Amino acid sequence: MVEQNLRNAIRDIPDFPKPGIIFKDITPILKDPQLCEDIVDAFVDRIKHLKLDVIAGIESRGFLFGLMVANKLKIPFVPIRKQGKLPAKTVAESYKLEYGQATIEVHEDAFPQGSNVLIHDDLLATGGTVVAAAKLIEKLGGHVAGFSFLISLDFLKGEGRLHRFSENVYSLVR
Ligand code: IMP
Repeated sequence: MVEQNLRNAIRDIPDFPKPGIIFKDITPILKDPQLCEDIVDAFVDRIKHLKLDVIAGIESRGFLFGLMVANKLKIPFVPIRKQGKLPAKTVAESYKLEYGQATIEVHEDAFPQGSNVLIHDDLLATGGTVVAAAKLIEKLGGHVAGFSFLISLDFLKGEGRLHRFSENVYSLVR
């Protein structure tokens, strides 16, 4: 039910950010408080057995439900941000994009060593972003307990790249 409502709320935007790409726009979801609550509950249902210490959300759309779910579970939320945005001391990880590269960072005191960390983002495409996030978590001595997404684009086969960190990959819509 929540999956169907979520599917209905996702808007396809052709040719964004460049010609030939169909962008999955999640902003209509945010206008529906009941749907947001149902999505948070659906994530909580799937991940509550993981005994998480922290949810790490990826800038920027990973902050939206990452924080809401962490609040619901009463555990800390940690932002993973693009290079140069976090104010305190950070560790960084770079990864390849179709053209060029990107770097993400997390505060080096984001969580205690040995923490069970769930990585959350709005959408899984090739997996490059969350693989870099998982490496960051491990650099800080954290354990990647799983990954969660609103949407997985299965045809890009990103999920297979995540299994070396964790078999626990939760996507509400594929
Ligand atoms: P990946 O690194 O190739 O898996 O790309 C995933 C990242 O790109 C996530 O941080 C997404 O927010 C973003 N992204 C890629 N395509 C879309 C889209 O169609 N809608 C929303 N975000 C997208």
